[in-house]
Amino acid sequence: TVSHDIVIIGGGSAGIATASSLLKRRPSLDIAVVEPSEDHYYQPGWTMVGGGVFEAPVTRRSTASVMPKAVTWIRQAAATFQPENNQVTLGDGTNINYKLLVVAPGIRLAWEQIEGLEETLGKNGVTSNYRYDLASYTWELVRNLKSGRAIFSQPPMPIKCAGAPQKAMYLSCDVWKDSGVLGNIEVEFRNAGGVLFGVEAYVPALMEYVDRYGIQLKLGSRLVAVDGASRTATFETAEGKVTREFDMLHVVPPQVAPQFVANSPLAAESGFVDVDQFTMQHVRYPNIFGLGDAGSMPNAKTMAAVRKQAPIVACNALAVLDGKQPMADYDGYGSCPLTVERGKIILAEFGYGGKLLPSFPTWLIDGRRPARLSWLLKSEVLPWVYWNGMLRGHEWLAKPNERRAA
Ligand code: FAD
Repeated sequence: TVSHDIVIIGGGSAGIATASSLLKRRPSLDIAVVEPSEDHYYQPGWTMVGGGVFEAPVTRRSTASVMPKAVTWIRQAAATFQPENNQVTLGDGTNINYKLLVVAPGIRLAWEQIEGLEETLGKNGVTSNYRYDLASYTWELVRNLKSGRAIFSQPPMPIKCAGAPQKAMYLSCDVWKDSGVLGNIEVEFRNAGGVLFGVEAYVPALMEYVDRYGIQLKLGSRLVAVDGASRTATFETAEGKVTREFDMLHVVPPQVAPQFVANSPLAAESGFVDVDQFTMQHVRYPNIFGLGDAGSMPNAKTMAAVRKQAPIVACNALAVLDGKQPMADYDGYGSCPLTVERGKIILAEFGYGGKLLPSFPTWLIDGRRPARLSWLLKSEVLPWVYWNGMLRGHEWLAKPNERRAA
């Protein structure tokens, strides 16, 4: 049995940001990060890859290069949790003991829930920006499509970056519009949900783009099967099953809690790590915290949310290690930069209950309107902030809030 003061499960955005934030506050900490992947991804960049704005490799770095030097990196997957014994078991059967555990293994893409999808992904015009290796295929399809039907699907919530399914569509439409072929392409947005976007303030501006690009909006339409060979997709709708032919299909897979979390004593009913939505402390085990896409908090699952959550978890975790109560609160902030055309973004920023939480004054950026400055933020500023700020524990734009009065 190995033992560390703090064990972090997952070395993605949340795991690395939390490790760095903890070390910034207390450099002497003994932290282990459990992460099986040799690669670390800046997933928000994949929308840009699919739109031909970024090359895929700029969104990937080695895990070794982002892992803080003072951390012990355990190159394995976690398999089970024994919270009563303060113990985690890894894939190879090794047990690790901890004083404090942070659980951040992200969300699982459940491709298998759509019949016939896995075997045709990456060919027959079927793609998804939700995978590093497929985002460039999206761009290939977009460049080559001159006529026919393009379908963009969105599964039921929860998904990470709820705006990403339509971002892919708007960027594609913008390319087709510029090259003069949009009129020959029938574009459908088939969304399992009942609204275009979950926070109403942003819907009018998005609807303008739906109209401008001539997109057919089909709400309550859930992708259930794909047949690559015949290029058909089947959707479940209130009127029964509908099968549509396509020339291009951009799929966003259903998303669920990682199995090993859902099967564990840490899980909420939803399968995600059962934490308090403000402190991100586990509701049953005070020395466990959860954040990022794997957490049960009802925020929009985004990198932007993680940027705010990591310092809060770091503050609260240190308080608990010192025998005190959590001292910082998360307001549910999340952000979704909706790429409505190449060069303009509708910058959705909101917290719990859909409360608008803009980072900038309205005269600079009004998130409800498409803006060039927001595009600059997404294409230039945020990737840099990610690699050089967030992953290294520099907390620009992310100072933890004090706990609200109980
Ligand atoms: P991840 O970054 O996914 O990391 C999870 C890590 O856990 C991975 O490294 C994984 O290998 C590891 N892991 C998994 N299982 C185990 C295990 N058993 N043991 C140990 N480790 C394990 N967010 C925005 O803010 N803005 C955007 O514009 C945006 N656009 C997006 C576009 C797309 C196409 C996608 C896919 C996502 C987008 N996001 C965006 C969302 C953002 O990328 C995620 O919310 C963020 O990465 C969540 O961080 P995380 O650490 O919780 O999960």
